[in-house]
Amino acid sequence: MQLSELHTGERAVIAKVSGHGSFRKRLIEMGFIRGKAVRVVLNAPLKDPIEYEILGYKVSLRREEASKIEVISEEEAKIHIASEHADEALPAILDREIQDLAYERGHNIRVALVGNPNCGKTSLFNIASGSHEHVGNYSGVTVDAKEGKFEYKGYKITLVDLPGTYSLSAYSPEELYVRKNLLETPPDVVLNVVDASNIERNLYLTAQLIDMSMPVVMALNMYDELQSKGDKIDIEQLGYLLGMPVCPTVCRSSKGIPDLFDTVIEMYENHSPRVSRHIHINHGHELEQSIDRIKLLLQRDQDLRARYSTRYLAIKYLENDSNIAKIVEALPFADEVRSARDEEAARIQRLLGTNAEGAIVDAKYAFIQGALAETYTHAERPPKHTLTDKIDAIVTNKWLAFPIFIAILYLIFSATFTLGEYPMNWIDALVGWIGDLFASIMVDGWLKDLVVDGIIAGVGSVLVFLPNILILYFFISIMEDTGYMARTAFIVDKLMHHLGLHGKSFIPMVMGFGCNVPAIMATRTIESRKSRIITIALIPFMSCAGRLPIFVLLAGAFFPAHAALALLCVYCLGVVLAILSALVLKKAIKDDDLPFVMELPPYRIPTAKAIGRHTWEKGKQYLQKMATTILIASIVIWALGYYPKNDELPRSVQQEQSYLGHVGKAVAPALDPLGFDWRMDVGLITGVAAKELVVSSLGVMYAGEELEEADENDTALQSALKQTVPLPVAIAFMIFVLLYFPCIATFVAIKNETGRWSWAWGICLYTIAIAWIFAWIGKEICQMLF
Ligand code: GDP
Ligand code: MG
Repeated sequence: MQLSELHTGERAVIAKVSGHGSFRKRLIEMGFIRGKAVRVVLNAPLKDPIEYEILGYKVSLRREEASKIEVISEEEAKIHIASEHADEALPAILDREIQDLAYERGHNIRVALVGNPNCGKTSLFNIASGSHEHVGNYSGVTVDAKEGKFEYKGYKITLVDLPGTYSLSAYSPEELYVRKNLLETPPDVVLNVVDASNIERNLYLTAQLIDMSMPVVMALNMYDELQSKGDKIDIEQLGYLLGMPVCPTVCRSSKGIPDLFDTVIEMYENHSPRVSRHIHINHGHELEQSIDRIKLLLQRDQDLRARYSTRYLAIKYLENDSNIAKIVEALPFADEVRSARDEEAARIQRLLGTNAEGAIVDAKYAFIQGALAETYTHAERPPKHTLTDKIDAIVTNKWLAFPIFIAILYLIFSATFTLGEYPMNWIDALVGWIGDLFASIMVDGWLKDLVVDGIIAGVGSVLVFLPNILILYFFISIMEDTGYMARTAFIVDKLMHHLGLHGKSFIPMVMGFGCNVPAIMATRTIESRKSRIITIALIPFMSCAGRLPIFVLLAGAFFPAHAALALLCVYCLGVVLAILSALVLKKAIKDDDLPFVMELPPYRIPTAKAIGRHTWEKGKQYLQKMATTILIASIVIWALGYYPKNDELPRSVQQEQSYLGHVGKAVAPALDPLGFDWRMDVGLITGVAAKELVVSSLGVMYAGEELEEADENDTALQSALKQTVPLPVAIAFMIFVLLYFPCIATFVAIKNETGRWSWAWGICLYTIAIAWIFAWIGKEICQMLF
């Protein structure tokens, strides 16, 4: 009977817990484990929840939840005893009898066979159960469920042979039948029979079982055919990626069958057979956002939560599945869910250019493609049919992949800077014009200085980089939306594994060259926590666009003939240090490195809307940073440099005696060995707020420098620096700026994404230490050379 049927005060022993993945896990964590005694503290009819006592604790369960737990009650045991041994003293054997019955019931396993038509389900059914059901080499032979029982290693296994289906949507009666069977009378274990000689199509059904969050064991059947073709498959890895154990079988000759049922039993007993784990298929950023929104709404209904995986319902409802719609539309807050779904469906249509259903199917195939690309080796190259296959043959080719990739990156970077220069000059001119305008209309005084020198100059010096950033993000969005980015992750995956990273880490690292903040946020796509944290720790070494002006300034002043080369060296130093740091961190961080699938979506021409929106979303983050952090920082820096005010003194002396000057001098001893003067120290301190501010504050502080005659190609600031800063110190300064504290916005992003302040502080201290050491080394080497 079910736990929910017990009355107040009755005792029982748990025989079985059923239900979908996360639900079952929760019950087991609460102590509802087979063989444990449970007592009803209070079960008021029609009232929720019911209170139970288990393992000496009181817990309450909803009626719906309790109905998923099968128990043996005292009453049942008594009836059993009465019928079997009428003469024995009852109390003496009652407890033992309950336990025995629970054990027996607990050793009945219901296994449902699910698979495409013609994959060998009935063959498997016949071999295992010793039946003689008709096996046919055409589809549609099994029209309804057949049950067969057999005993294996002390378990009574009931096999249910379900009709073959390609999918579990609500299109055909077979599909509906199978799905209803799985949802309404969930088996203890789903045995997914997969035709290995036709694996790609078969895995589509598997992907849907993953959504349903069922305990699945895969029989990779027709393994003989796969082998006779000469193909190879990494079964262990495939199992890891899909989160389920995979057993090769040949149902014609009953090869692999004992191992298969050993695994089924292991799965049933929750002994986490080898590779079983709960995974989600990543449907891509936009779809996942929609799924999450609907899922959160559905989770409000506790009974629904107990009965189904809400993620599964959300996916199906988004797909506009009519049967799931009936379930959802029976909810008291159905209107809210429906309008959320309609909004999300419209958003997906707008952004991805396909309806939600189509997009979800595509995402599942991208997942399958990714999983197979990592595990399946064809004996001979399969013929290339689709455009995607043809493009992939070129861009993921052993020899061409890297050159193509590097060429694309080069194009993107150079376009970012050359195209960006025009709007950059316009914005620069506009900021200058606005500054002049305010300077002319405002009366002299501190307020005017604040507006013109503080706010407009400060924010303006950063705003000029917006075009570069938008252009970079425009290209990154194109790479993402066409599907090329997914390939780059694939190409670099092997290399990245040496660093304890994953192919997916690569994209955020490339984005780091734009701005570290969105790059750190982009690490969300990395499932493994270890890879994620290492990636986050490395991103600050990717020289962001904010650091570029400093390098341009100094490289232009000190290496006029080889500025580009100097720039390249700086960027490379960052990358090299990122790699070295990864190697260190890889050892230091606890390994939870679970493999996951890198989705390989088909190539697609992205919609202008999607590109526009993705570019804008990222650009918006940059603008927000300017409206908040940089605005406040500009005002603070301005104020610190402005006060205490003394109009008698020349500007540069006044600067030196300002609060800012004092702060700069306070940290000076720590930076002395690197040869920086107090103004450079101040620049570095302002760079903590945003790297872009280093140049603007240097500009302010060197403004009053008495100059000997200047080189006409240099700006005023460049000449000033050239005449006051020796070359080795300039090099040390560039290195220091490259590596030290990644700016406040990044610091906060690190905290948010890792969930810990300790990581943010750790990375901050680490980068400062590395910056100091390498700046010093750079200076010493340079002094030896020149
Ligand atoms: P169902 O539609 O999933 O029930 O598939 P059946 O059990 O009816 O099998 C379809 C065909 O595949 C039959 O001709 C079987 O003999 C054949 N078959 C089943 N398992 C294997 C296998 O492991 N290897 C090979 N080569 N053929 C198999
Ligand atoms: Mg059949």
